[in-house]
Amino acid sequence: MNSAKIIIIGAGIVGRIAKLKFNDALIFEKSDGSITTMDSTIQILQIPIPNIAYKKIRYQIFIDNEYPTVEKINQWKIKMGRYKDINEVTFGDLIQFNPNGYAYYYTSPNIANYSGVYFSTRVTKILLFDKKIETTIGEFSYDFLINTIPLPNFLNMIDGFDFSKLKFVNKVLFVKRECIKSIEKDVLKNYYFTSLDNPINRILELNDLRVIESFSRLENSIELYPGKVFPNKNTEDILDWLKVYDIYCIGRYAEWNPKIQVHDSYLYLNNLDLSLKNRNFIL
Ligand SMILES: Cc1cc2nc3c(=O)[nH]c(=O)nc-3n(C[C@H](O)[C@H](O)[C@H](O)COP(=O)(O)OP(=O)(O)OC[C@H]3O[C@@H](n4cnc5c(N)ncnc54)[C@H](O)[C@@H]3O)c2cc1C
Repeated sequence: MNSAKIIIIGAGIVGRIAKLKFNDALIFEKSDGSITTMDSTIQILQIPIPNIAYKKIRYQIFIDNEYPTVEKINQWKIKMGRYKDINEVTFGDLIQFNPNGYAYYYTSPNIANYSGVYFSTRVTKILLFDKKIETTIGEFSYDFLINTIPLPNFLNMIDGFDFSKLKFVNKVLFVKRECIKSIEKDVLKNYYFTSLDNPINRILELNDLRVIESFSRLENSIELYPGKVFPNKNTEDILDWLKVYDIYCIGRYAEWNPKIQVHDSYLYLNNLDLSLKNRNFIL
């Protein structure tokens, strides 16, 4: 039996997956939980996740309305500001630009066990040495803390430390949703655009929904923060340092790593042992 007190910060998809694994954990979410990043755009998962994403769909990828070629992939990378790995097709690219693949779609935003779930409750401070968090409804102590909010925001909340000199680079994304009538059911069409003159970098279509993603504000769009994150050389050291205090940062934003997909977080959580015997003792 695991009697460790576990607190999860954030009820986006990663926080919800964490709550499925650690049923007794408390979870704090600043919003009312009705719209998460996952609901704002169309996201697909490479493996099914029970209770969360299990609907198998087909997807098709086009770059400038053509099937992806190495040249087109590179043009898109230039547009996205990824100059470094130009002319190098990575495993991630092959997955992302597989012209005809299958994936799993997010079906259920629900949390299996609503006891211990605090919506509209913001975490405001982390007391590292006392192993406590402060929230808008009071103070809570933990044995283990799972953080899913963006790493710079989390660091800013740690009492007694000043991380403001560490620069975390990101590009906010704007997303706009439209209703459409699609002919093919359960086929996600993914259109990428390489032209630097075109502010839109991707359009996704699935059944009756179209999502337009752009780095510029579009009419009636909503803002997604942090949107696109760029690697930071300090991140790995920071994540290791936090683990010494029994704090685990999980998810693309919490780990500040653009390569993290939701299924990586699911696998990470599946293997995470948070029993008291696994506790880190600080000397
Ligand atoms: C456009 C786009 C497309 C993507 N597509 C995919 C995809 O197809 N497949 C994939 O695997 N990944 C994809 N990702 C990457 C990423 O894994 C997903 O965005 C995922 O939804 C992130 O979930 P999360 O739970 O880590 O973070 P979030 O959804 O951001 O959840 C964090 C939660 O923390 C809450 N919060 C913040 N501060 C506080 C606080 N102080 N106190 C309490 N709560 C707080 C927020 O309100 C939020 O609900 C995509 C990302 C973007 C931007």
